[in-house]
Amino acid sequence: MKIFNNKLTRRDFLKKGCIFATCSTGLFALDFFKAGSLLADIPKTRFGPYEAMFYNKIDEETVQCMLCPRKCTLTNGMRSFCRAREPKEGKLYSVVYGLLTAVHIDPIEKKPLFHVLPGSKSFSIATAGCNLRCKFCQNWQISQSKPEEVDNQELSPAEVADLALKNNCKTIAYTYTEPTIFFEYMVDTAKLAKQKGIKNLYHTGGFINPDPCKYLTGLLDAANVDLKGFDQSYLTETCQEELQSVLTMLKILRDNGVWVEITNLVVPTLNDDMGKIREMTSWIAKNLGPDTPLHLSRFYPQYKLKNLYPTPVETLEEARETALKEGLNFVYIGNIPGHKGEHTYCPNCKKTLIERVGYTILKNQIKNGTCGYCNTQIAGLWE
Ligand code: SF4
Repeated sequence: MKIFNNKLTRRDFLKKGCIFATCSTGLFALDFFKAGSLLADIPKTRFGPYEAMFYNKIDEETVQCMLCPRKCTLTNGMRSFCRAREPKEGKLYSVVYGLLTAVHIDPIEKKPLFHVLPGSKSFSIATAGCNLRCKFCQNWQISQSKPEEVDNQELSPAEVADLALKNNCKTIAYTYTEPTIFFEYMVDTAKLAKQKGIKNLYHTGGFINPDPCKYLTGLLDAANVDLKGFDQSYLTETCQEELQSVLTMLKILRDNGVWVEITNLVVPTLNDDMGKIREMTSWIAKNLGPDTPLHLSRFYPQYKLKNLYPTPVETLEEARETALKEGLNFVYIGNIPGHKGEHTYCPNCKKTLIERVGYTILKNQIKNGTCGYCNTQIAGLWE
């Protein structure tokens, strides 16, 4: 259910410029933006430019953002790679604080989180911007835009928490684009939500540095992390992402008590090699545990990968079998409504516990966190 996506401010597109800047790793193309008049074109909000967390001042004109592994070094007049941060006189600012470009009420199954409060509603929000460049992005219109290039609704963290409560949402999901890039807004909202008994959900590409990730774990209840592949050359070419950073982040979440589910979009010809899927699922089972749910999601041609065909159902089924053989207990097939791979099965008695069609729950036989047939404990946040 869409709440709103109203226009607040629309500025002329700023001229994209390539300027010399440093990036912490040679893996990624430089893709910074010249901002024109410093901070002047950012939509004005009642929050003002909001000082960022996790950055270092280098000199009066230069800062280095430490939020994600890109570690952008920025000087006056530049917009960050993620389009969400801008420096001014030795300080770094978030330019998306409180500017929501998407606000929806979704079933929690859409996140997807299948082992968290099944059948509940999640208040789901996003700002513009992203620190990745996935060629298959479903939300590229907002993730690959600056805030001044999209329609926005201005909402304070308190207003988000109140709206979530008014709409009977048990959770707030930071989702659609990459929530790491609206870190400060997510943190402030999550703190208020926690005080009001609302759980916080993070759907992320996992490209975040260890310190901010550890900071977040104190506020998050659950996360769905896109582990987009297990091959660095694929991740570099298709997403401009670094595998080791995502694996480190996954372990931090798990070790600090955040419930973790993983999504892997299986893209035909690019990351559908069964050897790599075996390697990935073996890593998950050994490092995060066999009860970590894995969502193998069907790709549909879009954005920059319109030349490919949808993932064959047989490929997803083979990937699921591979993951189960590697020891994972909960392996789902996504984006194929009605497929039996959408259901939750008891790892002990194998009976169907939660029957789903798309985002709809048809049956739930989990009782107090255990199998309603054989009493085996089923991992998740059920209450
Ligand atoms: S969060 Fe944005 S500004 Fe910070 S390092 Fe990553 S891409 Fe650069």
